[in-house]
Amino acid sequence: MSDSNTESCATKGKITLVHLYPREMSIYGDLGNTRALATRLRQHRYEVELIDHHPGQKLGAGAHLVVGGGGQDSGQARVEADLAVNGQILKTLAEDGTPMLMICGMYQLFGNDFTTVEGKRLPGLGILDVTTRGNEKRMIGPVVLRTKHGDVVGYENHSGSTTLGPGQQPFGAVRHGQGNNGSDQGEGAVRHHVYGSYLHGPLLPANPAVADALIKAAVDRALTRGFEPEELDDSLADETRTRQIGRLLLGRNRPR
Ligand code: GLN
Repeated sequence: MSDSNTESCATKGKITLVHLYPREMSIYGDLGNTRALATRLRQHRYEVELIDHHPGQKLGAGAHLVVGGGGQDSGQARVEADLAVNGQILKTLAEDGTPMLMICGMYQLFGNDFTTVEGKRLPGLGILDVTTRGNEKRMIGPVVLRTKHGDVVGYENHSGSTTLGPGQQPFGAVRHGQGNNGSDQGEGAVRHHVYGSYLHGPLLPANPAVADALIKAAVDRALTRGFEPEELDDSLADETRTRQIGRLLLGRNRPR
């Protein structure tokens, strides 16, 4: 791993945040998830070490929090060889309770496999028991989910249709939008503390409860004192989310 960048402030301890493949897999603003986690960790007064992991580098076993974003099918193909090399470390970290957030293309690659619309099979890590197949028709548009973190909003844009294996829990129930496949009302998948989701936006700035759930899992695992949150002002995100939900579900506040 390289591109390491440590910033200090008066802190309760250090958390190492690893961003997988920021060049190949971070479209539709998914870099915002990394920034939201780093910013919130600092606001909760933790020190952050941010590591960008690029294909060909060695992934260390010291990650406390791992994020990955969306990408085109071609970007997914470019990270496959590195995932084959570093996949075992990611699996071990996941099974040990390391929180991870994988969006769209990386969500698909954390599943069993992704077969593109042209029929090319990209094997996945199998951390999440999901299987994805590309379709001619893309699923595009705003999404509202009901989750254990409350209502979550975002924006989806994927050709892949994802099916969950038996016993695999979704991230949320679709209140508006398509979700995993447009038919079973499920969106994303969660196993251990690994979250997969199709939601761009980016997801975490608009849904700080999800960011704090990831941060809590990371700190509880990494530091003996456990997560000691500061009181943060999330009123802007909360208002934005409430307005979006009102517009999509109740037809309120439509833009004129
Ligand atoms: N290539 C994948 C699909 O279209 C992932 C898209 C994305 O990451 N936004 O299904």
